[in-house]
Amino acid sequence: MNKLTLTFDNGPSIEATPSVLDVLDQRGLHAWFCVIGKSLATPEAHQLVTEMISRGHRIVNHSLTHRTPLGDDPSDQHAQREIVEMHSLMDDTLGDWGDRWFRPFGRGGELGPHLFSDASLATLTELSYSVLLWNSVPRDWEDPLGWVETALADVITQDHTVLVLHDLPTGAMNRLPEFLDKVDQLGVEITNDVPDECVLMRSGEETLALRTALIELPTSSN
Ligand SMILES: [Zn+2]
Repeated sequence: MNKLTLTFDNGPSIEATPSVLDVLDQRGLHAWFCVIGKSLATPEAHQLVTEMISRGHRIVNHSLTHRTPLGDDPSDQHAQREIVEMHSLMDDTLGDWGDRWFRPFGRGGELGPHLFSDASLATLTELSYSVLLWNSVPRDWEDPLGWVETALADVITQDHTVLVLHDLPTGAMNRLPEFLDKVDQLGVEITNDVPDECVLMRSGEETLALRTALIELPTSSN
């Protein structure tokens, strides 16, 4: 049976996240929410992240500003700001937010050396982070209707798909219930586990997947 892990990046947003949380709740599903600094900037957004934790979802540090990919600015200051400042912000505002997971960003989900600098890997090691990658990016932000078919194609062909969606007001999340219905009809199991190939670091230890991911060209959704 193929498996699917749902991840939602760059949120939350007041417009899209509450309905995503309700859709998941109605189906008894859990997901990973990869949040960025501005998620914790307003009381409303902060409340949504707290809500995610209380509903049993996993929260991931997805950087403070989500602007320059870590590998594109190899300075220690950049790694400190994006990873450590976000980490402190999460600790200060969320209290216990679960195991430490980080997800890198940049270039629409392409895999490559732009995802990490040596300084950022050293920082993640120091803080004993695990690192979550992905293997399906249906580009829901620029294809708010068609992403469903693109994602289903990945779910059908891959043993375990780690899908990147965005809980942002692009309109894409309107099709989330339909997508989940189709996944259900295919007999695909939705799980909150992640396959080894999508974990680049576990509790600060680099995995075999790390070096492969940094040199591999994108394989899907192009
Ligand atoms: Zn992102």
